[in-house]
Amino acid sequence: MKAAVVRPNSDGYVDIKDVKLRPIKDNEILVKMEYCGLCHTDLHVAAGDFGPQPGRIIGHEGIGRVEQIGKEVTGLEIGDRVSIAWLAGACGRCEYCVTGRETLCRSVQNAGYNMDGAMAEKCIIRGDFAVKVPEKLDPIQASSITCAGVTTYKALKTSGIRPGQWVAIYGCGGLGNLAIQWAQNVFKAHVLAVDINDDKLEYAKEVGADLTFNSKNADSGKFAHDQFGGAHAAIVTAVSQIAFDQAVDSLRAGGKVVAVGLPKGKMGLSIVKTVLDGIQVAGSLVGTRQDLKEAFDLAADGAIKPIVSVCKLDEVNEMIDKMKNGEIKGRKVIKF
Ligand SMILES: [Zn+2]
Ligand SMILES: [Zn+2]
Repeated sequence: MKAAVVRPNSDGYVDIKDVKLRPIKDNEILVKMEYCGLCHTDLHVAAGDFGPQPGRIIGHEGIGRVEQIGKEVTGLEIGDRVSIAWLAGACGRCEYCVTGRETLCRSVQNAGYNMDGAMAEKCIIRGDFAVKVPEKLDPIQASSITCAGVTTYKALKTSGIRPGQWVAIYGCGGLGNLAIQWAQNVFKAHVLAVDINDDKLEYAKEVGADLTFNSKNADSGKFAHDQFGGAHAAIVTAVSQIAFDQAVDSLRAGGKVVAVGLPKGKMGLSIVKTVLDGIQVAGSLVGTRQDLKEAFDLAADGAIKPIVSVCKLDEVNEMIDKMKNGEIKGRKVIKF
């Protein structure tokens, strides 16, 4: 089968190669891939940023149909449409796994990173980590929900935002615009969208942000306090340290900042403000299988619409270049 494989020198690109699949184990399934999105995380894996992984098949935004089922797998049938997400295995026994926080498991398996992923004609995954995709959800959109969609849905859950409250979303790109849609359509919150790019803010308005603010040369924290008394929660998807500082400033007393973007460096958080204003800080990383199931179900009912467009497996390196240059709007999804 054809697959997108990390090069021996981890130069940030992939080779499209013929790969022979091993037989499945009793707890695994074989999935015939229909679609797989290309994610920034794939670029990091291809470049060896998390440690070199030469020969690894990338891809963790995979959607396909079950072709073969191991003896121990329950709850799946041949032909079911399932997803292959970043979270592709956990121990099931540790303090995180048994308390609904399996994304924090220390022996987690990640598709397309420490196990072969979904950017291939076929993929093997543990049956209990293949989350079913509702038939009425467009599979191309589903591929985006597998990663960006569930990540932003989980961030909103983590924020504890309530209907009618204000949430500030920092960064209105691929993750941010989905966060705005979840906030509006599912969590019924008011949204302040903050970015340094007017085009992205325009789009943020289109998908439902109540207020937008360009923070390039102005203080979004002051704006939030002037307009509505400060945000109840702020979600930072921007890969920018300054965005984190401003997000903290945008909060009202009792507010919570949820960190999703991964810039290098540290967040400027005044100890006095943290104590006197009761500020909470939380990191949020992808989502559990249950989060993904919820996100699929909500998206199937039209809660969010990721921007997606399709390309071919041979075009992956071209797409990697385009992604590096910021030329892709929404997600590029490989069709098999
Ligand atoms: Zn991803
Ligand atoms: Zn565990």
